Amino acid sequence: MIEKIKPLLEIQKLDIQISEIENSYKKLPEKISDINQIINIEEKKIENLNQKVSELELASKGYEKDVIEIEEKVKLIEEKLFSISSTKEFEALQKETGDLKRKKIEIEDSLIKVMEEIETNKEDSKKTQENFESEILPMKGQIEELELELNESRTEVESLSNQRLDLAKNADKDFLKIYERLCSSNKPPIISETNSEICGHCNMKIPPQTYIKVLQSKEIVLAPCCKKILVAKIT
Ligand SMILES: [Zn+2]
Repeated sequence: MIEKIKPLLEIQKLDIQISEIENSYKKLPEKISDINQIINIEEKKIENLNQKVSELELASKGYEKDVIEIEEKVKLIEEKLFSISSTKEFEALQKETGDLKRKKIEIEDSLIKVMEEIETNKEDSKKTQENFESEILPMKGQIEELELELNESRTEVESLSNQRLDLAKNADKDFLKIYERLCSSNKPPIISETNSEICGHCNMKIPPQTYIKVLQSKEIVLAPCCKKILVAKIT
């Protein structure tokens, strides 16, 4: 019986290692995706600010063009005024230039507002960009490190799993089956060694008749406390 248990103890050692590594990298993919999300949000922020600046610059060019057009119109009308004799027509043209001049002032006000908005957005964009370079860009390095760590862990688990396959080939088939079945509902360790009436896994007291069976080691004995396979400490 002890000879049948020994290979399982070796397999168990690997299972514990595999489980520890898997636990340590379990959170890595989520961590990587969280950091990626932060980077994406910041990149989008910069993109939106730059887009906004472009739109405002386009609007300001439109206003500038409108102002020039009005100025030209006013100039033409004022030249015409000299050659007009009809008072009615004179007044009509004067009203027209008055309206145009008022319109020009309105447009110039809008232009000033847009220019101010452009300045504010440019400043925001610059600050966001600076923050991106100092705070966010280093995160890309962090992701690379985490991905490396993740790959190394996966390679290590793969190599341990291969070692486990080799050990499983030489283990007693029936014992291995029982061990595997317990594995499916239990985290390793599955086998607990004990040298007293105390469970080596959870430190609960084992009934004396159970401990006697463990010492006799003729059959697989499960601990009543934690359902681990109890074996006498192998020295
Ligand atoms: Zn126990």
